[in-house]
Amino acid sequence: MAEEEIARRDCTRLLAARVEYGALAGLMPEALHCCFEAIIRGTAHEQARLELVCLPVRLRCPFCGAIFGGDSQDALATPCPGCGELFGHIVEQGKEMILSRLEAL
Ligand SMILES: [Zn+2]
Repeated sequence: MAEEEIARRDCTRLLAARVEYGALAGLMPEALHCCFEAIIRGTAHEQARLELVCLPVRLRCPFCGAIFGGDSQDALATPCPGCGELFGHIVEQGKEMILSRLEAL
């Protein structure tokens, strides 16, 4: 995806890519770094950096509207701080994976 995006802007060498991922996305940072290194090895992008940014879980209570969350999936088991309800919270942030920034020449 990064390669297509930089080619569209007449660039040929990726310098850095930032991926923002939700704490519930199931992404393992070490594994993604390993894959990235393997993919760029021997290519024009060999020196590129991968920046991973973990986005915290943000939940909304459908009963009282409170917004709350945390840094891990433990947030899903947290009662609403507004009304105490334990179930039915809507995940507003935490499942996404976004290629948010590219640096290229
Ligand atoms: Zn609530």
